[in-house]
Amino acid sequence: MKKMTCKQLWWACDMEFYGEDFESIGNMCKQHVMEVKDDPAHQQAMQEMMSLDPQAQQARYATRKAEFDELPHI
Ligand SMILES: [Zn+2]
Repeated sequence: MKKMTCKQLWWACDMEFYGEDFESIGNMCKQHVMEVKDDPAHQQAMQEMMSLDPQAQQARYATRKAEFDELPHI
């Protein structure tokens, strides 16, 4: 099991997510971002992400996934 925070993933707070793979952590975080979508910090992070072209979004995803792979199991 590994842990990433909202901030480590893409966003804006210290909410923690636990999962066996990056996919499931990513989905949990997505869910969380939907729940707090009125929060200005998350809104800003989302706008920032939407302003990236698909290639840049993919690169960002790959970077985060690489970071996840580097994390120690807990
Ligand atoms: Zn958050």
